[in-house]
Amino acid sequence: MNHNNMQRKQELLQKKIDAGLVSERYPNVSSMEIKMIYFQRTMYSNSDKLLMLRTVKVSPESHAYFHMQCMKKECESTYNLKRTIGVMVKDKKKKVSGKISCSGKGEGVKPKHACVEYEITVKYNNKRKKA
Ligand SMILES: [Zn+2]
Repeated sequence: MNHNNMQRKQELLQKKIDAGLVSERYPNVSSMEIKMIYFQRTMYSNSDKLLMLRTVKVSPESHAYFHMQCMKKECESTYNLKRTIGVMVKDKKKKVSGKISCSGKGEGVKPKHACVEYEITVKYNNKRKKA
């Protein structure tokens, strides 16, 4: 059990390293803030219950890994914000918000058991980096 957790942490670390740094992927980003509200659907109700709030601060030194782990213990799925952030930075948008439902499936995991509302704010460098 512990071994599996270790392995998962190791894999996650490797994925982060593979993703590269924000300064490499998005050189014009000076800082980023990802606000998330996690909702979870319980088996007793059909409405989504607020589970937790989370704010992730991203600096150019951060890993450009934007897969947020689902809060449900049995679920191994992630919320992938990479594409959203990629498009956002390309278009130089300062603020983007939306909602993602968890796509995780499996044992003890019901479809649409959780979702996350996000708001991403990006600050850009004024100066253009010279190649
Ligand atoms: Zn999930």
